[in-house]
Amino acid sequence: MLVKLAGKTILNLENSKIVSLSDSKGCLVLDHSEIDLGDYRQYSETIWRSICEGIERDARLTEILPDGRALYHDYNNRIMGAKVDEEEKTIFDSKIILEVGHGGHEFGADSFHLLGEEKEKVTEYELNLIVADEASSRLEELGFNDVVIFDGMNKSLYEMGAVLAQLSDIVISIHHNAFHQEAQGTEVIYANEASETFASYLSQKIASSLNIKDRGAKKRNLAILRGATDVDPDSLAVLTEGYFMTSQTVEDHISWSKSYGIAIAEAMRELSGS
Ligand SMILES: [Zn+2]
Repeated sequence: MLVKLAGKTILNLENSKIVSLSDSKGCLVLDHSEIDLGDYRQYSETIWRSICEGIERDARLTEILPDGRALYHDYNNRIMGAKVDEEEKTIFDSKIILEVGHGGHEFGADSFHLLGEEKEKVTEYELNLIVADEASSRLEELGFNDVVIFDGMNKSLYEMGAVLAQLSDIVISIHHNAFHQEAQGTEVIYANEASETFASYLSQKIASSLNIKDRGAKKRNLAILRGATDVDPDSLAVLTEGYFMTSQTVEDHISWSKSYGIAIAEAMRELSGS
């Protein structure tokens, strides 16, 4: 098994042997007493591209055990380990940025009547903020201790994506979709291979919690995602379109958006294996 970063092999795990199964499901802990991360230590928390059983996989450091062994988790439930001497860190320490779509100067989908009240209108931005607030407080309750709501920046979407990817481990840009009254379902957009599995997982979780169609992960080079992946090709960055705010099936935007936020947090909890 080889661990690669930007196409270059940096760890050869061929001589490592499995020493135990960890408590989390699908977790293998390998003995890497002879592995030296050398110059690549700085990347130990970024997404790693690995080759496992001949299939390219994306894995990230999720936990460093008290004895110095580290767990690498990929989203297909395989684990690799490597020895590093850093402070103990878990997925709960990952920096998660919830970017509120259409914060700042740009405009979202049109505003819509809220709860049938002619005077009360709601914009996509306002709903995105409800989702981010709900996701953030639920994530904190679940033990994620580095969650940031990011509400607009005086830069282009491309530049913002680049900045956010550098500042965080996971970027989730929150949006609502808009089309015609009949369209409904969840889509999660991604731009790089590293984010594909995460995107389809999130899409599935949001759709099932809102009880709508899972339209799935869609690859699209949106500016914010392009910015993130240009600065770090292995960054974990997605844009969620939780539901179509234009659909006549929505009875109550506030409760739908709250459920959408909770679904994001619950998906993260399941990914953490707890
Ligand atoms: Zn939007």
